[in-house]
Amino acid sequence: MPTILIVEDESSILLGLEDALVYAGYEVLTARNGEQGLKFALQEKVDLIILDIMLPRLNGLEVLRQIRQKDKSLPIILLTAKGQEKDKVAGFNLGADDYVTKPFSIKELLARVKALFKRAQHSPLGLESYTINNISFDFKAMKASRHGKAVVFSVRELELLRFLIGYANEVVSRAQILEKIWCYDIESSPTTRTIDNYIVKLRHKIEANPEKPRHILTVHRKGYRFEP
Ligand code: CA
Repeated sequence: MPTILIVEDESSILLGLEDALVYAGYEVLTARNGEQGLKFALQEKVDLIILDIMLPRLNGLEVLRQIRQKDKSLPIILLTAKGQEKDKVAGFNLGADDYVTKPFSIKELLARVKALFKRAQHSPLGLESYTINNISFDFKAMKASRHGKAVVFSVRELELLRFLIGYANEVVSRAQILEKIWCYDIESSPTTRTIDNYIVKLRHKIEANPEKPRHILTVHRKGYRFEP
């Protein structure tokens, strides 16, 4: 069964959630402050996180931001306090998948958890492995190898490739790529030109003939399309 991490400092909510999730059959990990939550999120095998925003040590939004620097696809539900609309918007901008406003019903939260797991299975960011031209990609470990020897790709290149493969045979626009692959990194202020440069790099690494790509195709005025 999937493991769910609950990060919440209020005991009554934490224990109530833990009980309900265990009863529903999930493995559950709990943390009572942001620091511990972040540590578990990055070091333990976690499939989904329920993350409170108001937390001691490190607040939930900061925990979310730091998780998203390392992992773009881990499903995260935020717990927000009533009337904190600001937090909700900030949370979505930082890459939260869903939010639940306190006080919430356990039933509602369970439904959100289920929906998110379902969505994650079909997400282009959820693809775990793929092989092109003898290069095996392990998107969970963010590594690539050819005949057992490591091939160097940056994490961003791998994320972009995984995204394109996830939408195989469909055109993805540069705007979509910016939103999904670069949205959590405003500091590097990416432009559509940045994407084009990454595409060129990817083609050189995976295409037999990068000048005449067979997998990563440019669709004039629209974007890119991955052909398996
Ligand atoms: Ca709290």
